[in-house]
Amino acid sequence: MTAPEAWVAILGAKGGPAIRPGSQMPTSILMRLAGRTVLVDAGLGAARGVCDQGVALTEIDLILITHLHSDHYLELGPLLHTAWTAGLNRPVTVVGPPGLDAYWQGFLTSMAFDIDLRIADEGRPDLAGLVDLRELAEGLVLDLDGLRIDALRNDHPPIIDSFALRFDGSGRRVALSGDTAFLPALADFSTGADLLVHEALLPQGVDLLLSRLGNGDDRLRRHILRSHTSAEDAGRIAALAGVRQLVLNHFVPDGMPEFTDANWIAEVRKAWDGPLILARDGQRIAL
Ligand SMILES: [Zn+2]
Ligand SMILES: [Zn+2]
Repeated sequence: MTAPEAWVAILGAKGGPAIRPGSQMPTSILMRLAGRTVLVDAGLGAARGVCDQGVALTEIDLILITHLHSDHYLELGPLLHTAWTAGLNRPVTVVGPPGLDAYWQGFLTSMAFDIDLRIADEGRPDLAGLVDLRELAEGLVLDLDGLRIDALRNDHPPIIDSFALRFDGSGRRVALSGDTAFLPALADFSTGADLLVHEALLPQGVDLLLSRLGNGDDRLRRHILRSHTSAEDAGRIAALAGVRQLVLNHFVPDGMPEFTDANWIAEVRKAWDGPLILARDGQRIAL
């Protein structure tokens, strides 16, 4: 018997919601583990990213949303709607923080003309009935046959309901930091992971990033610096947790020619000398 597929694909590797020429896409991570297809976050471009992995939208078993910053769920409604028009005929479980239900109901309301039309005119099932929405909280999230998912509240002010996630299945462990400031508890949470996907900030890039933004004031600088983890500290978490491989994603800044892979690597190497991947949109990593 061949082992089931086990991989993680970073569909969007940039941090933050804006896209520009030359930038990558906001956050979505697709995973195949223990026979399940799981999408974590659904930033802009998520549906295209899933299909680019050769995975049909209708194959997604489970969607988790780590927190309600738009770069993590802007495309959730459009993705589910598109899965529906692509033939979805079984319920998809969607687990997200308090407030996601209001987004979903609002999305359904905003698209009511089209949805009602396709039910009446094309014989489609009701989209609302195909989404099993559940609230995400700290602790055990789901214990499915052969796949266990746990959540850890991370440190992403001013948002309180923001979570790191851990997946155990097929003898593999995958840990995702979500968006968080340096969080020592994440090292315990991701102990021994085969793969740790950690968000990363290059502190020396923040000023240049802000100078090009055009709107937002000093509060944005404060948010970025107090709510995210430097690349060096991401390496520190990987070292403390003893993970097998570290993947950096959610790059802030992203797509600025002034900063190259060498800058990121130099920061991480202050704290971590193990296998390191700087994620690119669409990059698939075998487990
Ligand atoms: Zn984010
Ligand atoms: Zn965030």
